[in-house]
Amino acid sequence: MNGSRVGHGARERLYASTTDTFDSDNDLDYIAIEYALNGERVKLTPAEKIHAAQILANRGFSDKAIGDRVGCSASTVDGWRANGWKPGPAPTPQPRQKRPEPVCGEPRMYRRHLKNGEKCDVCRAANAAADRRYRLTGSQRPA
Ligand SMILES: [Zn+2]
Repeated sequence: MNGSRVGHGARERLYASTTDTFDSDNDLDYIAIEYALNGERVKLTPAEKIHAAQILANRGFSDKAIGDRVGCSASTVDGWRANGWKPGPAPTPQPRQKRPEPVCGEPRMYRRHLKNGEKCDVCRAANAAADRRYRLTGSQRPA
């Protein structure tokens, strides 16, 4: 069967423009943007990426989904939105939280003891328990 009823199913293809194929004022190629909107691999200029991202955002796509379609990260999309859909400085990344120092009774501390050539029965037992959990459940985290 190679036909389908008219109006059957949702219309899924997204269009950047139904009248023009390009915008020479802003240097936008609507055909390339349309490909990107529909998840097809295409190389876009930065201005086209932002235009496509804005269209997808107005349709309720998540930043991650937008980034996947236009070829950038979710934080870049967020930066464009924060900048009024204009290119701008990259958003400042969140400062990384430092991991807390391990304490006795954690597998991490066991490895540190090993590295320093120390012996600690508490950490050794904790590491063995974590190993056991990992073999049984596939995760080292306590249930
Ligand atoms: Zn210890």
